[in-house]
Amino acid sequence: MIKSDFHLHSNFSSDSTASMESMVQQAIQLNLSEICFTEHLDIDYPENAEGLDFLLDLPAYQSSLFSLKEKYKSNIKILCGIELGLTPTTYEKNKDFIQGESFDFIIGSTHIVHNMDPYEPEYFLEYPGKEGMKEYFLSILYNLDKFSDFDVYGHLDYVIRYCRDKNFTFRYLDYSDILDEILKKIIDLGKGIEANSAGYKHGLGRPNPHPDILKRYHELGGEILTIGSDAHKPSHMAYDFKELPALLTSLGFRYYTIFEKRKPKFIKL
Ligand SMILES: [Zn+2]
Ligand SMILES: [Zn+2]
Repeated sequence: MIKSDFHLHSNFSSDSTASMESMVQQAIQLNLSEICFTEHLDIDYPENAEGLDFLLDLPAYQSSLFSLKEKYKSNIKILCGIELGLTPTTYEKNKDFIQGESFDFIIGSTHIVHNMDPYEPEYFLEYPGKEGMKEYFLSILYNLDKFSDFDVYGHLDYVIRYCRDKNFTFRYLDYSDILDEILKKIIDLGKGIEANSAGYKHGLGRPNPHPDILKRYHELGGEILTIGSDAHKPSHMAYDFKELPALLTSLGFRYYTIFEKRKPKFIKL
């Protein structure tokens, strides 16, 4: 049983209204042994209808987290992470933001490609089907060349959640040159990826990224693999984690990873 959730948001992230304490209480209810909040920081997130800015009030976040960490210390371990949105204009700003701060865990993620979140319908209108996938993967490759102060790269095929073409199927082969390069680069940097169970919530019937990407990562020697639900509210915490041990072991993994003070620790699946 997986007892850690390493991708969680609370109302310190623009797109969540859940109090941090409600998330902690849910984790205790679920009998998890540790959780890591990974609040959004997406500097230069484009203007949007909902008015979300994805900026993070770090002092308030840290103070709330440390008081809950103390309050619930006999029930659960609470870790302090961040999910950095990576785009060509944010590398230096992200570096400045995390400089001198002591995070337990950092996820680097692509949420914005060509100044658009693939979540917005315009993205696939401009880059239909495979083209939208390819542009997304290319942006990851570009980010990896410029920024590496993260522990895992988040939801590597996030883009697929929003491809509204019902006939679209993902095939590793269609992007194998780019994906192989991404995975090798992540491994060479000594970093990892995550199995993000929100894919189940989005009706994909699998985590993000696709099992073929996870499998290839393992074949290429990838070992660091964290597990997170990407929950923005308590009811989504540890979402469908029960599906993951059998899937991941069938792909060759024997361990998953947790982090504390940016150091990985491997736990048997
Ligand atoms: Zn994300
Ligand atoms: Zn997230």
